Amino acid sequence: MESFKADKAAVNGDTAEQNSIEGTDSGVSPSDNRSPALTCSVRPKQLSPVYKVQFSNEELKARLTPTQYNVTQERGTEKAYSGTYYRNRENGIYCCIVCGEYIFTSKTKFYSGTGWPSFSDVVDTARVHLKPDGLGCGCGGSLVPLPSRDASAMRMEVKCHNCGAHMGHMFEDGPKPTGKRYCINSAALIFHRIVEKPEGQKETQV
Ligand SMILES: [Zn+2]
Repeated sequence: MESFKADKAAVNGDTAEQNSIEGTDSGVSPSDNRSPALTCSVRPKQLSPVYKVQFSNEELKARLTPTQYNVTQERGTEKAYSGTYYRNRENGIYCCIVCGEYIFTSKTKFYSGTGWPSFSDVVDTARVHLKPDGLGCGCGGSLVPLPSRDASAMRMEVKCHNCGAHMGHMFEDGPKPTGKRYCINSAALIFHRIVEKPEGQKETQV
């Protein structure tokens, strides 16, 4: 299988990314060729999408590990090859660690060689919220360009549609038939193993 070596800078959020403003109304499109040194004269409007399920920071800090909190609430990225699930090959489903929403299945999981769990699809596109994430405005006056202008380097932030938890990124360089690679942090997921029962009986989650 082809190995997908993601640009580390494109996967690991750097400082600029952490400070970037979400949304597409920053006035900057991925096709812009402006120099990163240009001053951002118009402060973009902060989007505040309302998610169906919301939790207080106090509750999340109490029940999530520091890494889970950083990834899902602060758009952090776990260290490559450090997560629980990047090598998991068991049959089962992957749900949002914050709200429990069922988002990925082991049927579309593949080995990408990136060090993060990778999926070629979601169980339902309505269960994730994708946001363009190639350009960011640090609001410190500088525009941050993509690491590369190649279409394969374009990425979308993947968020749980239910609670808004940051999960990782989606790239357009995945395997067929979807051509997508959802590069997801283990810390954003909880895995439920499915034990297949003999014919006639229902599968059960463990
Ligand atoms: Zn969620």
